[in-house]
Amino acid sequence: MTTNCIFCKIISGEIPSQKIYSDELVTAFRDLHPLAPTHILIVPNKHLASVNDVEPEDEAILGRLFTAARKLAAQEAVDQNGFRLIVNSGPHAGQEVFHLHLHLLGGQKMRYPMG
Ligand code: AMP
Ligand code: ZN
Repeated sequence: MTTNCIFCKIISGEIPSQKIYSDELVTAFRDLHPLAPTHILIVPNKHLASVNDVEPEDEAILGRLFTAARKLAAQEAVDQNGFRLIVNSGPHAGQEVFHLHLHLLGGQKMRYPMG
């Protein structure tokens, strides 16, 4: 765990959250400020600050983020209508929390375009 990382503290239980999934590689919890009816954050249990920090040895973790996303999308019943997965990496993307996370947004038609 990295000191002062809010998501590391959520994973360890030091900070409360609405946790909805966890396994040996990833944890998922509801975003504090949801931007859609379903807004879940899926995070690696290992502290990786951003995509700039991922290494080939992390590929199992990165794959698990997606299989967890698939599972949670089905659980939230947004899999058939569709959902959006977003990873913000760095200042230009508006990343606020420097612990890598996948946003899962669903339950409404997403606005477009991005960028
Ligand atoms: P990003 O801009 O991609 O770094 O997104 C960070 C996300 O973390 C934002 O959507 C915040 O609403 C969310 N967030 C920040 N603190 C918490 C928290 N304690 N519990 C749940 N979500 C949080
Ligand atoms: Zn962290």
